[in-house]
Amino acid sequence: MNTHHNYDTIIIGGGPAGSTVATLVAEQGYRVLLLERATIPQFKIGESLIPATYWTFKRLGMLEKLRTSHFPQKYSVQFYSRTGKGSTPFYFFQTNPHESAVTWQVLRSEFDEMLLDNATEKGAEVRRGVGVREVLFEGDTATGVVTQNTNGTRETLHATVIVDSTGQRSLIGRQLNLNTIEPNLKMASLFTHYEGGHRDEGIDEGATLILHTEEKDSWFWSIPLPYNRTSIGVVGELDYLLQNRRDADGRLDTQKIFNEELEKCMPLQQRLEGAKQLLPIQTTKDFSYRASRIAGNNWVLVGDAFGFLDPVYSTGLFLALKSGEMAADVIIEAFRKDDFSEAQLGSFGPAFVDGMEAFRKLVYAFYTKEFSFARFLSEYPEHQGGIVDILSGDVFRKDVTHIFPAMAKMCPLPPEMSLG
Ligand SMILES: Cc1cc2nc3c(=O)[nH]c(=O)nc-3n(C[C@H](O)[C@H](O)[C@H](O)COP(=O)(O)OP(=O)(O)OC[C@H]3O[C@@H](n4cnc5c(N)ncnc54)[C@H](O)[C@@H]3O)c2cc1C
Repeated sequence: MNTHHNYDTIIIGGGPAGSTVATLVAEQGYRVLLLERATIPQFKIGESLIPATYWTFKRLGMLEKLRTSHFPQKYSVQFYSRTGKGSTPFYFFQTNPHESAVTWQVLRSEFDEMLLDNATEKGAEVRRGVGVREVLFEGDTATGVVTQNTNGTRETLHATVIVDSTGQRSLIGRQLNLNTIEPNLKMASLFTHYEGGHRDEGIDEGATLILHTEEKDSWFWSIPLPYNRTSIGVVGELDYLLQNRRDADGRLDTQKIFNEELEKCMPLQQRLEGAKQLLPIQTTKDFSYRASRIAGNNWVLVGDAFGFLDPVYSTGLFLALKSGEMAADVIIEAFRKDDFSEAQLGSFGPAFVDGMEAFRKLVYAFYTKEFSFARFLSEYPEHQGGIVDILSGDVFRKDVTHIFPAMAKMCPLPPEMSLG
């Protein structure tokens, strides 16, 4: 086993969070190594962006690449109630007459690749097919990583700062036992891609649709993608969607469950008439959790490696990009000050968690069966702008908390989770 200490920062995982940190830190002249275990671009879920990603893309130098891509443009999100009635679309330009109000629906294999290429262009060294088995610590201080490549060869690498951007693998979170599942969001999801089917026209063609099933026990997303593909997924409580649906032998037929849920969602069934399912149904569960710390001495967590809320408002990619950007800023500052303490590297944590909390409240409202956004807005029309601001991701640029006292009168909102 070889040992080297050649890098200022090692970033573990080449998803959007990892690429963002890599790009911004390398751009400042620091020696950055990003390790991605996958050898080739992967199919991934998480395909819908929200407008506030614009500002991170701008810093990354990605806007032109996205503008000239074939990713469908997304102007709005539209909700369908359990009775099949569609809301007026929430157009992001309603509160933000700026080009950032239009965002994209992305095919992750291509999008993640674009971000990684951009990191390489900005000076980061990107190694693929290299997985990290373990982060090395001396006490609470991270000192390096043990890697393994596709031939099974292991190597020990050292760096001043170790960034965990391993997504739901959450390498450091598992190693240090930091993660707690959101107690009231024990969810599961089944998803696939379709080819063909019906889309709305004009600026509604690229809209994300969120559709409740008849009894509001589950909901579907519909996300238009390039190549005439649409991403379709259903989300529901783990017990409802999976645990209670096993056959007599304890087996799960996920295709059957998916079809049963689709039968309870008439507007989506109609849109998928004549469309062809392209992939076997895939499953994921227990995806809502958060780590109790965001950083320690010489280590930082970004993106899903720190935590994930819920897919309903498409906030995952935004929070991955935003935490990547905030972490890059504190890392660059740490090098300037020669201070790699938990206090320095975790200094972005409280502001980041405040932003997450705004989304989290809206997620809880969505899953409250008696609550409806239509009823909330008919009673409090003055909060339409606040809702659009949150759906756009404007939780770090604007104060959106003014809507919550009124919302709390119509549904129980969760107490805030803070960093430990
Ligand atoms: C059902 C569902 C639907 C979703 N829909 C949306 C959506 O519509 N919009 C949205 O914005 N978000 C959505 N998300 C969330 C979104 O997918 C994630 O938030 C986002 O991918 C997080 O980015 P990341 O960079 O943190 O992690 P990832 O994108 O997961 O990247 C982590 C990377 O690390 C690599 N890796 C892992 N372990 C190691 C290791 N040990 N060594 C080296 N490399 C490693 C992986 O191969 C991977 O490339 C959804 C999530 C779920 C569960």
